[in-house]
Amino acid sequence: MSANATIIGSVTRQPSAEDLGGLATVDVLEIRADLVGEVDLDELRAHFGGRLLYTLRSRSEGGAGPEGGHEREERLLAAAAVYDLVDLEAQRDLYPEILDQIPPQSRIISWHGKRPDLAALEARFAQMSSEAAHLYKLVSFAESPRDCLPPLVLLHHLDRDDVVAFAAGEVATWTRFLAARLGAPVVYGAVGKPPGAPGQPSIRRLEEDFGLPELPPVRRLFGLVGHPISHSLSPRLHNMLYHSLGIEHLYLPFDVPVFGDFWLDVVETGSLHELGFPLSGLSITSPFKEIALAVSGAASPLAERIGSANTLVRTTRVWEAETTDPDGIRGLLAWHQIDPAGRRAAVLGAGGAGRAAVFGLGIQGAAITLVNRSPERGRRVANDLGVAFLPFEEFDPGVFDIVVNATPLGSLAGDELPFDPEAMAPHGVVIDLAYLHDGPTPVVEAARRLGRTAIDGREALLYQAVPQFRAMNGVAMPIDLGRRILGLEASGSDE
Ligand code: NDP
Repeated sequence: MSANATIIGSVTRQPSAEDLGGLATVDVLEIRADLVGEVDLDELRAHFGGRLLYTLRSRSEGGAGPEGGHEREERLLAAAAVYDLVDLEAQRDLYPEILDQIPPQSRIISWHGKRPDLAALEARFAQMSSEAAHLYKLVSFAESPRDCLPPLVLLHHLDRDDVVAFAAGEVATWTRFLAARLGAPVVYGAVGKPPGAPGQPSIRRLEEDFGLPELPPVRRLFGLVGHPISHSLSPRLHNMLYHSLGIEHLYLPFDVPVFGDFWLDVVETGSLHELGFPLSGLSITSPFKEIALAVSGAASPLAERIGSANTLVRTTRVWEAETTDPDGIRGLLAWHQIDPAGRRAAVLGAGGAGRAAVFGLGIQGAAITLVNRSPERGRRVANDLGVAFLPFEEFDPGVFDIVVNATPLGSLAGDELPFDPEAMAPHGVVIDLAYLHDGPTPVVEAARRLGRTAIDGREALLYQAVPQFRAMNGVAMPIDLGRRILGLEASGSDE
């Protein structure tokens, strides 16, 4: 049976009706009074039935509140009279005038600081826990993968159910999810924007991508490595598949500025294994597909030929590299019953996605032209891949049967479109590899309005994940389930 985490929703601005409407899974609402000021609690309690937490994060611990003195004391004591919980900073709030007025069951004793090692965190916890509290919270700001590990090791050593410890920062979001598997009873999420701390995911993301508050058992870890990756739907796809299929795995977002740091400090050290969670497979995205191939101990012939890997799977001996990107294109064309053999195809973009699209279409016999903004890179890649090249300004979509957009252009509302869909041939098909979370991109919408066949980048994501999912988990992905998780139309064929 699944355990459940307590979700603490962090409020950093006056909450809107929309913010307050999305709190079904939130148990505790944290009012960041250092950012939002004092709020009308009657109004808040009318919309929210859970506990309320008052936090006056000081400037030296990453907030905007006072460091100490009369104002701080007065605000904390006033809050204690009306809030269920009050966050007390171990470095400034643990003195008799405050402790006498705020009972242990109402205290969260917290510490936020820069990159300490394990010994420093252990010493800090010893100091904090000399005062009784409902919960102890330790957050260290991380700049690199190595900084992410000490809070998790601390939790593992302490083995308590009244301590939450994780690393903050975009590179460390994953530690929040692992902390919940190491006994931390709460997970913080952002209610609205901005988040309460760098790397804090939204409540919606906690629910939709990680299935929180449920905490089903986890035996093995997987994840996505790239930079940046906060827009990726891969965690949602993999975790929701695990959830539906009863697979005891967890898929984490490893946002890694430098691949080598992650590889040496997290993967090769076996540190996650030591915490009880062996890291067993990785999806690799931009800009690390080439280096992923280089660090692997064995590679498939296709990965060798393309010169990049989007999948690393840990076998008993080594990390094996594979590329499933060409399958992304192949799978979606098959789903839409489009045979590219002998058709004229243009691929816009010469980055990793563009190269994979050229391979996917080339394997199936299309006549390909690579189109790129920067002619030097475009020509070089086209030469490498043995296809024709055209500069962006000379591109005419009307002369192609299939147009693949492998640039980020046109993926945001208000963006310039990568090309004019009206100029496409009436039978032309557009495949936009860029994708949005909640619906088609503007170029896909525009092409569909004109009656063209337009395929969404979420489909490419899905089909490259099909072989990846099998390689990582040893079972096939039910395609319709994957389509539904990504908000795509399903065929009913899984049933
Ligand atoms: P890269 O950064 O490797 O390459 C980006 C490409 O887009 C380059 O060719 C670049 O041209 C071009 N480009 C960028 N900005 C512009 C612009 N303003 N005008 C014209 N061309 C531009 O990115 P990726 O190849 O990794 O990804 C490209 C897109 O595909 C992204 O939106 C990504 O999210 C999406 N993607 C989708 C996947 C899926 O499964 N659906 C998988 C992988 C990626 P230049 O060489 O001149 O800089």
